[in-house]
Amino acid sequence: MTDPQPRSSLPEGLRPTTLAIRGGQERTGFMETAEPLFLTQGYVYPRAADAEATFLAQLDRFSYTRYANPTTSAFEERLRLIEGAEACFATATGMAAVFASMACLVRQGSRIVAGRAMFGSTLLVLDELFKGWGIETVYVDAHDNDQWAAALATPADVVFFETPTNPMQDIVDIVTVSELAHRAGALVVVDNVFATPVLQKPLALGADVVVYSTTKHIDGQGRVLGGAVLGPREYVLGPLQTFLRNTGPTMSPFNAWVLLKSLETMDLRVRRQSENSLEIARWLEAQPGVVDVRYPYLPSHPQHELAVAQQEAGGTVVSFTLDGPTDPDGGKARAFAFLDALRLIDISNNLGDVKSLVTHPATTTHMKSGFEGRQRVGIGESTIRLSVGLEDPADLVDDLARGLAAPF
Ligand SMILES: *Cc1c(COP(=O)(O)O)cnc(C)c1O
Repeated sequence: MTDPQPRSSLPEGLRPTTLAIRGGQERTGFMETAEPLFLTQGYVYPRAADAEATFLAQLDRFSYTRYANPTTSAFEERLRLIEGAEACFATATGMAAVFASMACLVRQGSRIVAGRAMFGSTLLVLDELFKGWGIETVYVDAHDNDQWAAALATPADVVFFETPTNPMQDIVDIVTVSELAHRAGALVVVDNVFATPVLQKPLALGADVVVYSTTKHIDGQGRVLGGAVLGPREYVLGPLQTFLRNTGPTMSPFNAWVLLKSLETMDLRVRRQSENSLEIARWLEAQPGVVDVRYPYLPSHPQHELAVAQQEAGGTVVSFTLDGPTDPDGGKARAFAFLDALRLIDISNNLGDVKSLVTHPATTTHMKSGFEGRQRVGIGESTIRLSVGLEDPADLVDDLARGLAAPF
């Protein structure tokens, strides 16, 4: 009997669910089953001439973990395959990804057009840091294509938005906004955190770049921070890589190793959490103590059809507003009574975890927006953001019922 041929590289055309488990793995000589963790800062050279050749970019090898690391590269490659992007660079946090994705493109006099409803730290980057550097940001209500058309009648360098938005889940029409942006000369960057790599593919809809906080659903189990930027080779391996390698917010190999394993279960987690979310959103809609439920896959969502066209499921976050006072003090008292009566769902400003988490945006994530700022993006004073986990939805419903029954 002859020896069987050793297995070579993976077959072509594997689907994202398979790539999430198999993609990006290069086994070492030990032929380990799982992905190895290379917790090393540097790499050694057998000869001085090899170090020189590496610095001359004549030799393609690892030289320093701020530049690249085998474990981090494996994570980048796996996420790249799932996303269907040409290239990926992993970062220390989601904010490092958001900041670098734009900072590597803009300079004094640049113009950014962005959705108004956005992650708090992203708003601070645009309104305080970039503004101070002479970079202008024009905001639009991101679900309104007419406002995008008006803002993009003037040339722009970057278009940036989240869809669905946090926490009110407005949906941005990625196809239309990308067309408008490209006519204005802008690169389109989408913060795809809420939709996740599983449910929405912005690059296939016309966007140029996707950014993630891998802290959210990609980890999904509340352990490590991280981020990623994905897009065309000439952008990621060009200005973005130069910016990240030399300013330093690269991902730790340990975090990359945790996240690499997380990607194996991401599809299962996100789809089940979305099913749980839809069930809970439907239940909330039927409760007298709840005046408004925002979930993209509820037919009552004002952009339900667009959400169904653009996303494979509704996502893992349900936002709802409690009946009762709408002023800041009254709304806060109502919301706090609800939150403090919960015994299972944790109060936390994070999201995307397998543990269900709940937050009151008006006093946490959107406190800095002020009452008027919140009104403008539709956040009520008693609005609750629920990140739905993997618990039995019947137990989550029982807990939410406890919250609704709380006296205030
Ligand atoms: C959490 C989050 C970020 C920032 O990510 P970090 O990992 O916390 O830095 C950016 N955008 C959105 C939509 C987020 O939810």
